[in-house]
Amino acid sequence: MLKLTGFIIGTVVGSFLGVCIHRIPRGESLIMPRSYCPKCRAELRPAELIPIIGYILIWGRCRHCGERVSPWHPLLEAGCGLLFAKILSAQGFTVSAINSLVLISLAVVAAGIDFRHKIIPDIMTLPWMVVGLVIGLFSGGIQGVFSRVLGLAACGGLVFLIAIVSRGGMGGGDIKLMALVGSFLGVLGGLTSFIIACIIGAIVGVILIALGIKSRRDEIPFGPFISLGTIITCIFSEQVIPVIFPWLRF
Ligand SMILES: [Zn+2]
Repeated sequence: MLKLTGFIIGTVVGSFLGVCIHRIPRGESLIMPRSYCPKCRAELRPAELIPIIGYILIWGRCRHCGERVSPWHPLLEAGCGLLFAKILSAQGFTVSAINSLVLISLAVVAAGIDFRHKIIPDIMTLPWMVVGLVIGLFSGGIQGVFSRVLGLAACGGLVFLIAIVSRGGMGGGDIKLMALVGSFLGVLGGLTSFIIACIIGAIVGVILIALGIKSRRDEIPFGPFISLGTIITCIFSEQVIPVIFPWLRF
């Protein structure tokens, strides 16, 4: 039951996150107007707003102009549905589950915007660091806040140093995104997310260069990898943190 509830909530949230990815970089309001076709701007009918089902109802094309609707939309909705179902069925509506779900939602939007526009807007990171610290107050009192301040400083500081040394390999958006992750997951969770991001980023980079899709000089946005590492850490923290930090006993 919690799984189904989680899945439904996740698809609705996923649908909203899709709107955020589209509208935030364009400076548009997230609430008005209602969802529309980006080509002919016809508003979607209520039934078409239903996550996943809406896409099936219109067979992936705008009812008015026939413009193809990106399959990313239903995939994002289904993906968020699965993530929410997984976390809520494992943890219930707890502070720790809410912590993971808020962070995953932010990570998804940051990844989507960075992938398309090669930028992570400050609005996706800076104010939410405060939210991360406040959730820490609920989960662990003052000590909880303190461990998250440490996480924020350690993760943001590490990427800041890497950005200086690598001269452009990582940008300000990546620094703030990792600081955000640290403010939600603390030092261990944050660094684990970053290390997973680097491993996946390196593998994908090598594959893209080997296939000739990208050259060595091309910049590949790192935000999506940070987000992926963060999502993996949120879901499999008990499995991955001991693998990344084997000398720590749990
Ligand atoms: Zn249209």
